[in-house]
Amino acid sequence: MKSNQRYFSMKKFETNAIRIQSEQSVNREHSVPVYLTSSFTFEDAEQMRAMFADELDGNIYSRFVNPNSSEFIEKMCQLEGAEAGYATASGMAAIFASFMGLLKSGDHILSSSSIFGSTHTVLTKFLPKWGITCTYADVNKPEQWEGLIKENTRMIFVETPSNPGLDIIDLAWLGELAAKHNLILNVDNCFATPFIQRPIEFGAHLVTHSGTKYLDGQGRVLGGIVLGKKELIKEIHMFCRSTGPSLSPFNAWILSKSLETLAVRMERHSDNAHKLAALLEKHSEVLQVRYPFLISHPQFDIARKQMSLGGGIVSLELKGGIERGRKFLDALKMCSLTANLGDTRTIVTHPASTTHAKLSEEERLSVGITPGMVRISVGLENIIDIIADIEQALERSK
Ligand SMILES: *Cc1c(COP(=O)(O)O)cnc(C)c1O
Repeated sequence: MKSNQRYFSMKKFETNAIRIQSEQSVNREHSVPVYLTSSFTFEDAEQMRAMFADELDGNIYSRFVNPNSSEFIEKMCQLEGAEAGYATASGMAAIFASFMGLLKSGDHILSSSSIFGSTHTVLTKFLPKWGITCTYADVNKPEQWEGLIKENTRMIFVETPSNPGLDIIDLAWLGELAAKHNLILNVDNCFATPFIQRPIEFGAHLVTHSGTKYLDGQGRVLGGIVLGKKELIKEIHMFCRSTGPSLSPFNAWILSKSLETLAVRMERHSDNAHKLAALLEKHSEVLQVRYPFLISHPQFDIARKQMSLGGGIVSLELKGGIERGRKFLDALKMCSLTANLGDTRTIVTHPASTTHAKLSEEERLSVGITPGMVRISVGLENIIDIIADIEQALERSK
């Protein structure tokens, strides 16, 4: 949980992502090893006392932190411009901890309506059991948001771009709204990653990530992280340290290594996705394409203001509704049908018949999921092969 404001704070994004490393061991290794140890020893009783009393920084027990998770946290703090962070076993653990560590019974959250399915479940099914309530605000009606803030509102939670609808929320506007009402602004930055968007620069107090997606980027491990103001992270850290959703050393090692290539991966993901989106926009079997950096995106201007690239996700509305969506998936020859995203491999999903099948059609429409919507997580294969597979599947699913 160190905040790394030393030497590396002067360096550029890629350099920090590559060069921030745990201290070398006596073996003088170049690549940091995995620290598979559940606990750490102390020089004497006094050092042990001081570390437990938080008077001394250091490793105690891997449920708290471990050299591998510390390295991942230090890098992410630098990349997001955060003071502190805590790494968790999954993105949902990070999001849940950001609520449980800071809120109490009687508190209220204002959340954007288009958010990840499991976050929706936490906000509507579980938090009310502990007396924490939530109101959903429509992303397309920002003028309504201020009126939805109540006396007991403590936090604003948003996802931008959102999964799967790719809605964009104006972070500078939201940062001002949160400051005016003294609320914690908590942003799920999973789709953009800090290479493309840094919410803290716009006034966010907390940033959460599913490390499972672009931070790993190769579909190998689950992980998550929450970053932000020191005093907020302190509470979240205490919640996690006491309840145990900690990131494993091995997964932390994978995630920290993966950050070394985040910049080049995000550039290529965005380049491939932008090319695919522009091409599909002209396709006769496609009713609509959503991509943050297409001029046709309803929040294009906001996206250009707060994101440096469009990211790797494209969503399409196919002609022919639910049946067409399913037929299109079956016609794909290369792209994977799997629930993940942010992988080197291109992944195609059909939210209406899978992740959001439990919602009524009306509920789905209210969060922007139409029957023929297909979400493409554009991978790092050669764009010519990605386009060829999508085009042949559009043709064969007519
Ligand atoms: C996947 C995802 C999560 C949850 O992350 P896990 O690592 O699967 O727990 C949260 N938010 C968004 C936007 C996601 O895409």
